Amino acid sequence: MMSPSETTELMKNLKRLSGVDEQLARLHDTKVVLKGNIHSIETEIDTQKRQIEETTNRIKEETHQEHKDEILLKETEEEKSKVQAQLNTAKTNEELRIFKKKRGELQGRISELEDAILAHLTELDKSREDVEERKKLLTGREEEATRNIAQLRAEIAQREQERMALSQKRDAITAQVPAGPLNKYQRVLAREKHHPVVEVRNNTCQGCFMKVTLQEINLIWRGEDLVLCRNCHRILCLPEDEMGESSST
Ligand SMILES: [Zn+2]
Repeated sequence: MMSPSETTELMKNLKRLSGVDEQLARLHDTKVVLKGNIHSIETEIDTQKRQIEETTNRIKEETHQEHKDEILLKETEEEKSKVQAQLNTAKTNEELRIFKKKRGELQGRISELEDAILAHLTELDKSREDVEERKKLLTGREEEATRNIAQLRAEIAQREQERMALSQKRDAITAQVPAGPLNKYQRVLAREKHHPVVEVRNNTCQGCFMKVTLQEINLIWRGEDLVLCRNCHRILCLPEDEMGESSST
């Protein structure tokens, strides 16, 4: 069994430990947010790069199609010239009729191809403009992103320094806490990342504001074992002044 002064000491250390762990938990949360910010910036840049790549591929494909149609148009025009020559030397009405029909068909095909080529060129102009615009935007955005990421990384490094200092402080405190209560504390901490140790004020748990019985308060005073709140399962302790009273009696 612990002496009252040992109990007071334990409670004091657990409260300090809880304070340090609270700071560590907040540092961890901050680091998660900072890393998340870096990730969203990188994702945004990647998305923009991918869009440029997609449009560039579309331009290649569209250019290829346009060339194919140009060749086809040239071939069709040559064919039409031949038919025209045949038409000019036609000897019978039947031949005349056949060549005229053929010329009409080829002319229709030529119009279709001309329309298609025009559509390709319009689309190409639009896509090229789009890529230029996106590239310009990306250049500015990339510079900004590099600056922001460097700043976020510096902040993370700063938090890491703080974490290391706190970790040393924590080690110094845990060295003074007996194994039994320390294990119990660790179990509560695993569940309650924020404020694993709470005070009892006006017979009320300050973690969840449920009533704490006088019997439980006596148990805390006796210090045989750590007392957990029946409702929020945090470690209950008494305010310093009240602990002082207990150790003097
Ligand atoms: Zn509680």
